[in-house]
Amino acid sequence: MKWLAGLFKHLGGRLEQGPCDNTMRLSTDFLRESDECDDCEEALEWLAERGGFCDCEVLLNVEPPDDGDAIQASTRAYERIIEAVDEYEKAKKRMG
Ligand SMILES: [Zn+2]
Repeated sequence: MKWLAGLFKHLGGRLEQGPCDNTMRLSTDFLRESDECDDCEEALEWLAERGGFCDCEVLLNVEPPDDGDAIQASTRAYERIIEAVDEYEKAKKRMG
C-alpha cells in the first residue's frame, strides 16, 4: 500500500484548490501515473470497499492501514480539506 500516502497528499492538495466533483477522477489520474501502484483498478476497488467512492470520500472515509506515513498524510490532508471547505463557506457568505 505504498501509494496510499502519496494519494492522500495529492488529494489534499487538489481538493484544497477546488471542490470534489463526486468522481474518482483525481484518484484515478494519480494511481495511473504512480510508479508505486501496479494495478489502478485493484487500488480503486480497495478504496471503494472502504467507503471511498469519490475523491473527497477517500480522504474522509478511508482509514489508512497500520502505516505511519499514510496515517500522517491522511490526517494532514483531512485537515487541509476541512479548512478548505470552511473557506468556501466563508467566501460564499461574503458573496451574500
Ligand atoms: Zn466527493
